[in-house]
Amino acid sequence: MFESLRRIFGGAGPSEPDFTTAPSTADSTAPLIRLDGIGKAFEGDEEPTHALRDVHLEVPRGEFVAANGPSGSGKSTLLSICGLLDQPTSGTYVLNGRDMSRLSARGRATVRNREIGFIFQSFNLIGDLTVFENVELPLTYLGLPAAERRDRVHAVLERVEMTSRATQMPSQLSGGGQQRVAVARAIVGEPQIILADEPTGNLNSTQAETVIAMLTELHRGGATILLVTHDPRWQETVQRSVELFDGAIVG
Ligand code: ADP
Ligand code: MG
Repeated sequence: MFESLRRIFGGAGPSEPDFTTAPSTADSTAPLIRLDGIGKAFEGDEEPTHALRDVHLEVPRGEFVAANGPSGSGKSTLLSICGLLDQPTSGTYVLNGRDMSRLSARGRATVRNREIGFIFQSFNLIGDLTVFENVELPLTYLGLPAAERRDRVHAVLERVEMTSRATQMPSQLSGGGQQRVAVARAIVGEPQIILADEPTGNLNSTQAETVIAMLTELHRGGATILLVTHDPRWQETVQRSVELFDGAIVG
């Protein structure tokens, strides 16, 4: 379990960018995320499950978008593909002007580390690392020196008001506390994109309000956010919602 989490929050290791295409000479008017005819089929015993079917989605830089839809409609799969944790079986994913299907696995991990921050319903903190170490992990993989890592970790822990918990283990925190730490981990590397999969799904209403306020503030600061949620409290915060049903965008 912790190994797969380490893959999500690091993985490529300090490395040169591994682009098979040149890094974008970013066209600031182009969408940050462009999904073109994306499909994802999982092979099953009898027939494949089509988790996504012909999904077209453009997310401009700085937009806050929600993806809604019933359980099993493909929301988490959509986020996994946008976050380069999984690859589509058809279609094209262009991130920041670069075709992601042309990257090696290592190249994808590098882009993931630098440009994407994840927040999950179940927090996904690494249980055998302290709060400080959990937040530091993405910076370790980015290859930053220890002093800079320490300064940046302390700065984000202050932002989420968890400074006093730095030496504690995740199990010593409430769900709300764990999600604050997860937000800190997601933003410590200053990614362009934040992907949040039902981030308030396991929180009480006060804790949820805090997380909503944090993401709202990040959005005001320029972050592009793709949020999966069932929680109506987000309605006033997001700029646009897309609706998934059986793997297709239906509205
Ligand atoms: P949601 O997040 O909207 O609940 P998911 O993206 O998790 O939906 O799942 C969409 C569909 O794909 C479901 O039918 C689910 O069972 C299937 N699915 C998701 N991940 C896998 C996997 N790793 N292997 C097989 N089927 C999967
Ligand atoms: Mg899901």
